[in-house]
Amino acid sequence: MNLLKFSRGGVSPLHSEHEGKTLTEKKPVVELPAGKTVSIPMVQNLGAPCRPVVTVGQEVGVGEVIGEPLGFVAAPVHASVSGKVIAVRDLLHVNGKLLPHVIIENDGEYRVNSALKAHTWEEVAALSPEALGKIVLDAGIVGAGGATFPTHVKLSIPADKKVDMLVINGAECEPFLTADYRLMLEQSQDVIDGIRLLMQILSPDKALIGIEDNKPKAIEAMQQAGKGVPGVQVCVMRTKYPQGSEKQLIEACTGRQVPSGKLPADAGCVVVNVGTCAAVADAVLRGMPMVSRITTVTGAVREPKNVRVRIGTSFSEAIDFCGGYEGDVKKLISGGPMMGVTQFDDGVHIVKGTSGILVLNAGYANYPDESSCLHCGKCVYACPMGLMPLKIDLWSRKKNWEMAEDYLAMNCIECGSCSYVCPSKRHIVQGIRLAKAEIGRIRREKAAKQKEGGK
Ligand code: SF4
Ligand code: SF4
Repeated sequence: MNLLKFSRGGVSPLHSEHEGKTLTEKKPVVELPAGKTVSIPMVQNLGAPCRPVVTVGQEVGVGEVIGEPLGFVAAPVHASVSGKVIAVRDLLHVNGKLLPHVIIENDGEYRVNSALKAHTWEEVAALSPEALGKIVLDAGIVGAGGATFPTHVKLSIPADKKVDMLVINGAECEPFLTADYRLMLEQSQDVIDGIRLLMQILSPDKALIGIEDNKPKAIEAMQQAGKGVPGVQVCVMRTKYPQGSEKQLIEACTGRQVPSGKLPADAGCVVVNVGTCAAVADAVLRGMPMVSRITTVTGAVREPKNVRVRIGTSFSEAIDFCGGYEGDVKKLISGGPMMGVTQFDDGVHIVKGTSGILVLNAGYANYPDESSCLHCGKCVYACPMGLMPLKIDLWSRKKNWEMAEDYLAMNCIECGSCSYVCPSKRHIVQGIRLAKAEIGRIRREKAAKQKEGGK
């Protein structure tokens, strides 16, 4: 079979059992019962935060809005259990900052907010793309793969652009994670329903579902579920990291390249994760906003599992549900080992983008000291964005943000391939992340000054 793939860089890490997926890939999704309280962060998407709109003492139902977005690039936040709001206060967030959370005492009844409305397919047929898009917005749907970009924004295509391809991300190329894999096996019809709804909004010529060839059962399940749906096609891709990254996925599935600094819509594409598709089906056909998700809890825990978990459940509750820590824990990661974010505390709470909770003990995590750059060029060959990671890292270490920008630091997708292949174990991605943050800060300051000057 001629397998699809992106053309530049990438790594093929962890094909075998070291990929870590064998820990959970055969484990059906189980429900993680919510605890006595859930603490729901008001920041759960890329873009603007939400403002809490509930007060202490207020009773809320499942799916009731508790946080309203403070901008267009944001999505509302909903109660994931029914009960009483007992506090609104700052807590540690998975992004490492202290941010507002709404804390709800769970009454255990899971009373659904009576204002929620499910639609039949007949009712859906009569809805305009705008009305369907509004349901997606109101349901607070964000990219479930981990990127957390608000889905309604992706679906709002500027008038000067034409989208003819909907690309569905079923790659799940991060080692250890199997949440999307189990979703495709167990809820393939929901994913297809979501794709049909998204097609009604975007009217693309085709919907291409990209799945790597290390997931033959998911490929079969999605082919079966998509049979007879006009325009829907499964694209089998070679297992190669970071195949699930937007630009790489578009290239593999359509052969198109997204130009530097541009968006998928500039290549006529919109990319949506399989989990997001299922969330769209939930919102439209069952009236349920994004109040839970599937998360893989894996690595050094006694019983690794795929769990359906309510947003606002703590990492420690999820880890306890999976038998607790095993061995001498060295690292706790939100997400996978390549792109995930290391956590300081397991008291943080699950958000809409928490695709995995990965615990690494001494048996998994290796902490060699970094040594000098050998100028071997391996990081350059591995970079799927065609960058020179060693140079960006070098200028970042020198705090020369201008030079880091000249070396296109902002094009870095933070996939970690460069760090993975580096024989000197240099902390390249950390250096690039820092440079990106500083360049972003400088750009914002410049824009603010220009705005002030224009007054
Ligand atoms: S892979 Fe590591 S040692 Fe080799 S050039 Fe890149 S930063 Fe230097
Ligand atoms: S420079 Fe960025 S995009 Fe390139 S390999 Fe490193 S992390 Fe990935």
